[in-house]
Amino acid sequence: MPQIPDVPLDGLYGDLILEHFRSPRNSAVLLAADLEAEEFNPFCGDRIILQLKLDEAGRVVQVGVQSEGCSIIQATASLMSEAMKGKKLEELEDLAELFRDTMRGNTDDQNTEEDLGPLQSLTVVRRFPVRIKCALLPWVALEEGIKTYRSSQTRDQ
Ligand code: ZN
Repeated sequence: MPQIPDVPLDGLYGDLILEHFRSPRNSAVLLAADLEAEEFNPFCGDRIILQLKLDEAGRVVQVGVQSEGCSIIQATASLMSEAMKGKKLEELEDLAELFRDTMRGNTDDQNTEEDLGPLQSLTVVRRFPVRIKCALLPWVALEEGIKTYRSSQTRDQ
């Protein structure tokens, strides 16, 4: 199978993506996580392990994320990890939905720009449709992790 060329990282947004790819944030493994998820995309060897630690109010206090594969998943995982701190799970679900809609071109950029913050830089990936999946995989992990976490909470009660 021919190798799919990686996204050329040019321009202003490319710089931020490249910077996160080169020095990923929050990459340490958490020893006691409340929420954990792992996703794999064999298409380009993308893998992500996501961990969240929540405080008593249900807000994210710590994030641990390890990713491998193409530059886009690694940069997305890093950017996402920074966007999650201090947020509740419901807020993260809203963010995931907004991000997905934006990547699929279903939103008005002007309106979403502020809400997405630095994640906005990833809209450059829309020019490379084959890579959109890479940018969405960390969010799939997040949503799966939230689902698993909620069902375990229900079981405990
Ligand atoms: Zn990828």
